[in-house]
Amino acid sequence: MPVGVDDDGRLPMPWLAEPLGQALRLTTAHALLLHAGLPNGQFELAMALSQAWLCETDAAPCGRCKACRQVRQRTHPDHRVVVPDALRVAFDWLSEDDPLLRSGAKPSRELRVEQVRAAIEWSQRSAGARGVRALVLHPGDALNHAAANALLKTLEEPPGGLRIVLTSHDPERLLPTLRSRVQRVRVPLPQREVALAWLRQQGVEEGAAMLAMAGGSAVEALAMAGEGIDAQRLAAIPAQLARGDGAALAGLALPRVVDLLLKLAHDAMAVAAAGPPRFYGARHLSRPIGIEPLQRWRDELLRAARHDEHPWNAALLVDALVTNGARCWSVPQGATVGRAGHSLHSSG
Ligand SMILES: [Zn+2]
Repeated sequence: MPVGVDDDGRLPMPWLAEPLGQALRLTTAHALLLHAGLPNGQFELAMALSQAWLCETDAAPCGRCKACRQVRQRTHPDHRVVVPDALRVAFDWLSEDDPLLRSGAKPSRELRVEQVRAAIEWSQRSAGARGVRALVLHPGDALNHAAANALLKTLEEPPGGLRIVLTSHDPERLLPTLRSRVQRVRVPLPQREVALAWLRQQGVEEGAAMLAMAGGSAVEALAMAGEGIDAQRLAAIPAQLARGDGAALAGLALPRVVDLLLKLAHDAMAVAAAGPPRFYGARHLSRPIGIEPLQRWRDELLRAARHDEHPWNAALLVDALVTNGARCWSVPQGATVGRAGHSLHSSG
């Protein structure tokens, strides 16, 4: 996926145009925080914004001037992007002689203090021809305590010409001292029709169920599609789970399994209270035996969510979560629950 605007000045996601305009009007702010409650293109917006700051034309970000292209290719001398090592791996940004490859260490998910210090040192060198430097820190939520503290002074008194953009899913969890030094720009979720059209462009045809499961985030829905999840598979989960069958969850990473089951627990509680489900279609859900077993199951899922990198055998943990979840329905074997979906995986 392209980051920033392309040769024709188009954003990778149409719903970023409004918050980009808002951010560009904050001409005196030297540090901005782009935030949304869910993954919503914050990074792509940060790249487009930093493109605009460095763009050589009046139509910033134009996408086609030398600076815009260099930002897109990450070769602009006055542009710097700092992301956790785990993201550098995911983005395929490692050079052949990258120290991370040599060390063999597990890539960090945090923005480390060494990374922030190196970026600050870079920012203190004199700016290029236009007198502007742009620093992107993504995601700001990944700043560990030491790294956030190292950044404070620079946010307070940035070197001349430096502009900083941070992204976040959860600004309330950032250090208050950091939060108070940045101007916030919210990135609103796309309208449903806009999200569905964008998902179709990305090759996701039956996007409605995916979008509902993703809480309205098209970016998250696309991530799910990339993990092999589709509408049919989602539809199969509730009835299978009620039978103690986890086939529709097979092959998914543990955090995703926990996420899907937490949403099922949420919906089952809504159904038990005669309310509408939010994530799974109502026709796929049957009434659980009661609220109490659901609360116990949800607590178990929340514990698993907090320890999603534990060393236990993930498959065994998923089996236990499925078995305990089935107790919330406690359906005798062979009985039919709601509308049974189709499993994509015959192995159980
Ligand atoms: Zn340009």
